[in-house]
Formats: sequence, C-alpha cells, structure tokens
Amino acid sequence: MVGFPFSIINYQFLILNSTVLNFSIKLQLSQIVTNHLTKNPIFLKVYLMKKLLMHVCCAPCLVAPYYKLKDDFEITAFWYNPNIHPTLEYIYRRDCTREFIKAENINYIEINEYGLLEFLEKTLSTLSERCAYCYYKRLEVTAMTAKQNGYDYFSTTLLYSKYQKHQMIVEIANEIAAEYDIPFFYQDLRELWKEGIKLSKEKHMYRQQYCGCIFSEMERYNILHIISYKTLDKKW
Ligand code: SF4
Repeated sequence: MVGFPFSIINYQFLILNSTVLNFSIKLQLSQIVTNHLTKNPIFLKVYLMKKLLMHVCCAPCLVAPYYKLKDDFEITAFWYNPNIHPTLEYIYRRDCTREFIKAENINYIEINEYGLLEFLEKTLSTLSERCAYCYYKRLEVTAMTAKQNGYDYFSTTLLYSKYQKHQMIVEIANEIAAEYDIPFFYQDLRELWKEGIKLSKEKHMYRQQYCGCIFSEMERYNILHIISYKTLDKKW
C-alpha cells in the first residue's frame, strides 16, 4: 500500500547503519533522501504517518472508518475475534473481511482462532459480564501485537458500532494501553454509522444480524428458554 515511501525509510536506515560507507558519504546520501522527501509533500506525509493497528470486528464496521482514517495513518487491519460463533458465522465474517482487505490492498494481520470452548469456559458462570471479558481479550491481543511489531497506536472498529458498549470499550482500551505501554487511538466512529451501512450495502458485504457470541444470537430473537413442544398428529 505504501511501499515506495517506506522503502525510503529503509534506505535511510541502511545508509546510517552501513559499515562500508564513511561518515561524509553517509551524510550526503542521507541529505539526498531527506531533500527528496521535503520536495515531495505526499511522500513526506506518508513518511511521517503514524502506524495504526486497527482491530477489525467485521468488514461492515471497517469500511467507513478505514476510508476516513487512511489518509492520516498507515493502517494495518487486525483480525482477532474468537468471540464469533458458530463456525459458519465466523467464516462468513472472516472471509468478508479478507475480501475487502484484498480489494483495497490493506496491510493485514490475521489470528484465525475460533474460540467457542474457551469463550464458554470464561463466560458461562458470569454471563451478564461477558462483554467486558470479550472486549478485554480482543483488545489485549491487539495491543500486544501492536507493541511487539512497532506500531504507534492500536484501536478498534468496535468504536464504530452503535450497538456496542462504547464507554466500556474506551475504558478497557485505556486500561490495556497503560498496561502494555502503547497508546490507544480513540475517535467516536459512530458518527460514520449511516455512511458505513450505505457503503457495506453497495459493496454487497455480508451483514451479520447479531453481535457475535451464541448468547447474542439467542438475544437477537429475545428467547431465553424455548419451552414449546408440538405433537404431530400424524400416522406413520
Ligand atoms: S454480546 Fe458481543 S461484545 Fe458481548 S460477549 Fe457477545 S460477542 Fe462479545
């Protein structure tokens, strides 16, 4: 996506760390690269862009935030959603994300983990608090990945959804930012809600009907207990 300008950074690094070049040549070469950047504002802007690792909950939640932020950050999309169940639903959302990433040529890191069993183990006894666990787990792995790979910020497309617990996400993300010593980039992306719906429909994206876990799928229908038996009066 931004191959050429970042190869300039690599040149700078190679020049300055060269054991073959003497100091004066290093200085001259470095100045040539710097001049090139300052005479080309677009390259300079990309050169100065901060690297953002953006956790992606699904493609429809990524599309509008990506178009809004892509000129201000070097964005890498990050897929890690072990909270999405059952398996086919997980695959639909993951593959839709992959398609958008490919179409837009976005940098992408994917941890492909279907996490039903662990999710049940951690949440079954405290169902009403499961979202805190769910946000923490995904954002913690995002922050760790960002830190380990030299990103300037981490963030999440969960900030785009009107259906998510926005304040809880922000609080958890700030806690993780302090713990892992990497800044959390916050913007209230809910302002892009209508735009995102329009774009995702235009692009024929898979649009899910519930948050992700099997409990949210159950809540979608507002059914807590199915107590309904039918007797078929049928002679076999
Ligand atoms: S409702 Fe959504 S945020 Fe809450 S636990 Fe389920 S998948 Fe996670």
